[in-house]
Amino acid sequence: MPTLVSHPDEVKVVSRRFGMGAANIDKYIELDGYKAVQQAIAQGPEMSNWIINTMKASGLRGRGGAGFPTGMKWSFVPKQSEKPKYVLVNGDESEPGTCKDHVIFLHDPHAVIEGTMIAGLAIGSKLGFIYLRGEYRYLLKIVEKAVADAYAKGFLGKNIFGSGVDFDVITQTGAGAYEVGEESALMESLEGKRGVPRIKPPFPAVVGLYGGPTVINNAETIANAPHILLMGGEDYAKLGTERNGGTRLFGISGHVERPGVYELPMGYSLRKAIYDVAGGIKDGKKLKAVVPGGASCPVLTADEIDVGLDFDQMGKAGTMLGSGGIVVLDETVSIVEFALRTIAFYQHESCGWCIPCREGTDWIKKTMTRVYNGGGTRKDVDNIQYLADNMMGRTFCPLGDAAAMPTLGFVKKFRKEFEDYIDGHKAGTPIITVEQLVGAGH
Ligand code: SF4
Repeated sequence: MPTLVSHPDEVKVVSRRFGMGAANIDKYIELDGYKAVQQAIAQGPEMSNWIINTMKASGLRGRGGAGFPTGMKWSFVPKQSEKPKYVLVNGDESEPGTCKDHVIFLHDPHAVIEGTMIAGLAIGSKLGFIYLRGEYRYLLKIVEKAVADAYAKGFLGKNIFGSGVDFDVITQTGAGAYEVGEESALMESLEGKRGVPRIKPPFPAVVGLYGGPTVINNAETIANAPHILLMGGEDYAKLGTERNGGTRLFGISGHVERPGVYELPMGYSLRKAIYDVAGGIKDGKKLKAVVPGGASCPVLTADEIDVGLDFDQMGKAGTMLGSGGIVVLDETVSIVEFALRTIAFYQHESCGWCIPCREGTDWIKKTMTRVYNGGGTRKDVDNIQYLADNMMGRTFCPLGDAAAMPTLGFVKKFRKEFEDYIDGHKAGTPIITVEQLVGAGH
């Protein structure tokens, strides 16, 4: 189990119960658990509007990576529907470098359950699903126990908190496919089908799970809802920056002295996150590059880290806040090898549904392998860029972009390193096969 870390600059909202035994329902209740859902129910007929307005005021944007405003997403669900409505919690945390939903499920699973109930009350749903990635099966026991304890207390099931409303929660794991982190593929998977994306529109808020209106949110987003209702939307918003309310869990990994998951205000300096919060570069080495929001985000060089960690500032810097997984690379890292590992992951995880992604990831991986092994030419580097450029915006789902964007960043910002490999500075005879590099089956 990961060790809990802490830093004075943290502002603990969603992580405030971590390490306090809140997976136990009695402890969770002692720490204000299940108060927010009761506060919502106390609003009576205004309950739905009150929840949605509070979420809108909070400025909370989806913590899975897309950054869509949560309150607005919930307001898109039609009030009247012939089909049942659903809440779907996306815990398919598969983006390399990301491990923040993991700590929520581990330390505060009731916050996810309570947040699911709140989302259900907001949209008029009676059923929520909590979907965990296949590799998190060991966390399922913790979440399932929390759900069972909530039923045993009468918090889930019929007539929750005397509201006259019924609400149930079902847990489910995937089979370990990155692609089902995409919301429509997630719905397909949950329905027992192959996890490939659906055509949009219609969007899930109108036609989602089993054809019913569905709200899909990342686990961290959902876990924030009880805290926001208790502290008030405006107060939560004030913790962050304009259009980027609140705080965020950042998983800082790689070559830093104190890797871990830290909760920092939105807009916090990336430089400070690396050098103060995570203790700086390991063993006194120099920083070379940072992948700031999970493997799909374009890389930043050591000169580009004076930027605030929110959706807008990261966008202006030419990258993304993504999933909050900050991967720090020191001067010893081969960017060519790192780029090859990254594309090998996406090539392996491509669901094969559309040609630009299926063929593009494969060709980039093959070409990059040739460069890595010392047999490439400068034309190969051009071709890698050409392939990635032609995948951008031309694939069926965002995985294609997720593979192309980091590739373009590596090639554009570190082209000389690719050329060094071609010129034999790093190779001559092949160093290693790509299968050895990234593992069998990738
Ligand atoms: Fe599948 Fe296409 Fe999405 Fe790639 S971009 S994962 S092939 S649907």
